[in-house]
Amino acid sequence: MAARLKIARMSYKFALSVTLVIGLLVAIGALALSTVTTMRDATNELDERRLVNAVSAAMSSVKKRLAGTVRDNAVWDDAYEAVRSGDPVAWIEDNWGAVSADYPLYDGVIVLGPDGAQIAAYRKGQPIDAVALFGPGIVKRSLVASRLENIRTVFDLYQIDGSIVVTATLGIRPVNDPDLDTAHTTLTFFKTLTPGFVGAIAEEFQINALRIQASPDPGQSWRLITNFEGEPLGYFVWPKTDPGTAVYNTALPTLIALGGLLLALILIVISAFRFELKKESDLAVKAIHDATHDHLTGLYNRAGMIAAIDRAPAGSIFHLIDLDGFKGVNDVWGHATGDRLLRAIAETLTKTTSEAFAIGRFGGDEFALLHAGERDPSHIGNTIVHVLAQPFLIDGHHVEIGASIGYAGVVDGHDALETVHRADLALYCAKDAGRGQVQSYTAELDAQRKSLFALEEKLRTAIDSDEIHVVFQPLVCTRSGRTKGVEALARWSPATGPVSPCVFIPLAEKAGLIERLSMNVLEAALISLAVFPELDLSVNISPVQLANPRFALEIEKVLEKHSFSASRLILEVTEGALISHPERACRSMTALRAKGVRFAMDDFGSGHASIGTLRQFAFDKVKIDRSLIASDEHAVVRATIDLANALGIPVTAEGIETAEQAAFARGAGCELLQGYLLGRPMAFPALVEHLTGATDEVRSA
Ligand code: C2E
Ligand code: MG
Ligand code: MG
Repeated sequence: MAARLKIARMSYKFALSVTLVIGLLVAIGALALSTVTTMRDATNELDERRLVNAVSAAMSSVKKRLAGTVRDNAVWDDAYEAVRSGDPVAWIEDNWGAVSADYPLYDGVIVLGPDGAQIAAYRKGQPIDAVALFGPGIVKRSLVASRLENIRTVFDLYQIDGSIVVTATLGIRPVNDPDLDTAHTTLTFFKTLTPGFVGAIAEEFQINALRIQASPDPGQSWRLITNFEGEPLGYFVWPKTDPGTAVYNTALPTLIALGGLLLALILIVISAFRFELKKESDLAVKAIHDATHDHLTGLYNRAGMIAAIDRAPAGSIFHLIDLDGFKGVNDVWGHATGDRLLRAIAETLTKTTSEAFAIGRFGGDEFALLHAGERDPSHIGNTIVHVLAQPFLIDGHHVEIGASIGYAGVVDGHDALETVHRADLALYCAKDAGRGQVQSYTAELDAQRKSLFALEEKLRTAIDSDEIHVVFQPLVCTRSGRTKGVEALARWSPATGPVSPCVFIPLAEKAGLIERLSMNVLEAALISLAVFPELDLSVNISPVQLANPRFALEIEKVLEKHSFSASRLILEVTEGALISHPERACRSMTALRAKGVRFAMDDFGSGHASIGTLRQFAFDKVKIDRSLIASDEHAVVRATIDLANALGIPVTAEGIETAEQAAFARGAGCELLQGYLLGRPMAFPALVEHLTGATDEVRSA
C-alpha cells in the first residue's frame, strides 16, 4: 500500500517536474522567437520609415530646386520691366520659352497676368495653352502667388499625359520692390517627373528602383502623391527591401537548429525523468512484490494473502493448511531439506488447486489458499490432505508429512483478520481431532472461542489476584516407603467451579500468562516447603518457559530469595519444549544444572520422546506416564524402566491407583511412586497432616 502510494506520489512529482521544465524551455524558446521576430519587424519598419522620409526629402529637394530657379528668374528687374512693357511675349520666348526646349531645371514656363490671363506659355520650347493643359488650377495658383505680399513660391502638382508635373509659381517683381501690395504678373516653371528624372533623384537619395505608378503593387512600399487640393495623383513606389526579414532569413537555419537543440533538450529531460521514474517505480513494484510474497516459495506471504482476502468477493473460501510433522523433518534432515520440501509442497498445492485465485505460505509450515467457493470446500480440503499425505522425494529421501485444514468463508463487512481467525479456529479444532482432518468454521466454534476468551480474561484476573493456589502430591520411595518429595500442582477454583489444569495450563500458555503462573506456583511451593527441608520439590514448567533465555536466571533469583537449595528442586519438562526449541532448552537446562537443579522428563511414553531424547538432554529423572502404568503392556513398561535404569536414570511411576500397580512398579525397578494410592494432590495443611501422621502405604501394599 505504502509502495503504491509512493508510485503515485512519484508520478505526480514527475509530471509536475516535467511540466515545469518543459514549460520553462518552451518559454525560453518562445521568448527567443518573439525577440527575433520583434527585431526583424522593428528593423523592417525602421527601414521603411527611412525610405519614406527619403522619398519626402527627394520630393522637397525637387521643389526647392524648382523654387530656386523660379526665384532667380521672377525677382529680376529685367523681367519686371519686360512684362510691364507693351510686348512681353518676345522677351518671354527669348529668355524662358526657348530655353525650356532642353533645359534640365524646367520643362516649361507659364506667365499669367495679375488677372490670371495667359501672357505666354511654352512647353519644351513650343507655345501652349496653359489652362487647356493644366486646367483652371493653374490660374488659381497664379492668382494666389500674384497677391502674396512676401516673396513666397506656390507649388502644385498635376497629372499631364500620364506623368506627374510639378509647378512652382512666383510673382514677377524687381529686386527692390517698392509696393509689395499690388498684384503681380506671375512666373510658373514646371518640371515633369519622368522615369529618368525620378531615377536620377532616387539615386541621389539612395532609394532603390523608385518609380511613379497609378497604384502600388503588392510587395511594394509606397507614398501617395497629392496635389495642392489634396487629390491623389499617383504613388511613389519602390520594392520592399525588408532588411530585417533578410537578416532573419539568413539567421533562420541557425534559429531552427537552436529550436531543434531545445527540442532535443526537452526530449532528453523527459527521457531522463522517465528513466528515473521507471527505475524508482520498478523498485517500488519490487518492494510491493517482496512485501507480499514469500521469497522461498514465490507464493503470497501472510501480508499478501491478507490483502487477497480483503479483495476477495464475499462467499470466497479461505483454507488454512497446517503441515503435520514438518518440524521433525527440519530436525532430522536439516533446514535445507525442509526448505526444499516447502517448495515442493508449494508446487503441489499450485498444481492441485487450479481453482484457487490466491495461494500463499502463511507462516513457517502453514499454507493458505483462497477460492471462489464454487466447489465443495471440504472436498477441496480432503483432496489437499490426500495429496500432502503422499511421500515427497526430497534429496533422495522419502519424506512423509501430513496436513490438517481449517476453512472459513469470506463474509461481507468482516475484515480479513476475522476470516483468518475463523479458519485458524477451525484448524485448531481439526488438529485437536487428530491429524489429517478438515474442519469448517461454525458458529459453535465461535461460541467456544468466546467462552475461551472469557475464561482467559478470568484467568488473567485470577493470576493477578493470587487465586491460583498450589496443591502437593507425595512422591514415595519404593524402597523405604517414605515420602521423598512432592510435586506441586496448580489449582484454580473460581466461583463457577474448579477448572482442570488440562484446560487452564494450555490457556495460560496461549495467552502468554504461563510464565507468571508457573513462577507463582514455584514461589508458593518454595515458601511452603521451607519447613520440610528433607523433601525434594518437583515443579512443572511449560515449554514456553524453557525457551525463554531469561528463564534460568529467574529460577536462580527465586531460589536465592527464599534460600531454597537448588539441589532440592526438580523441574518437570514435557517433550514439547525440547522439540520446538532444542538449543534454547539445552542452554537453560545446562545453566540450571550447573547450580544443582535437576530435570525430570514428564509423561514419558505418552508422546514421541525416546530414550535418545533422555540421553541428549541428560535428564536426571524420568516419569512414566500413567497411561502406560494403567495399560496391560507390562513387558513394554518393564523394558522401558530397564532401559532407563541401564542409562542410570531413576524412574518414577505416575498414576499409581492400585496396590497391584504399586507392586508392579516397585518390582519393575521404579525409584519413586506417585498416585492416588499414595496420596492425592492436597493443600498444604493436608500435606502437613499427611506427612506427620504418615502411614506406610507402599510397604503395606
Ligand atoms: P503432570 O505433571 O503429569 O501431573 C500429574 C497429573 O496426574 C496431575 O494432574 C495429577 O493430579 C494427576 N494424578 C496424579 N496421580 C494420579 C492418579 O493416581 N490417577 C489419576 N487419574 N491422575 C493422577 P493435574 O493436577 O490435573 O495436572 C495436569 C497437568 O497439568 C500436569 O501433569 C502438568 O503437566 C500440568 N500442570 C499442573 N500444574 C502446573 C503448573 O504449575 N505449571 C505447569 N507448567 N504445568 C502444570
Ligand atoms: Mg508433572
Ligand atoms: Mg506427568
